[in-house]
Amino acid sequence: MNDKSCSNCGTKLPSEASFCTVCGARIEVVQGVPSAMPVNAYPPPEEKKTSFVYIVFIILSAVGVVAGAVIFFLKWGLAL
Ligand SMILES: [Zn+2]
Repeated sequence: MNDKSCSNCGTKLPSEASFCTVCGARIEVVQGVPSAMPVNAYPPPEEKKTSFVYIVFIILSAVGVVAGAVIFFLKWGLAL
């Protein structure tokens, strides 16, 4: 497909081209498809690690809230 074109001179280039055959400029991968790839896309391993940390944080928070509620309840039960 002709989805690649030189950002310098606009020459249509084959998809395997790394440099423009006319002006010699380096070819960007995202040329011609502005909205196909998000700029802030992060690799899957980082997302997996982030979600894992997030799940651990939620579990620890839940345990902390439950433990705190039990301790608070027992304290009130002993105090009153
Ligand atoms: Zn060019």
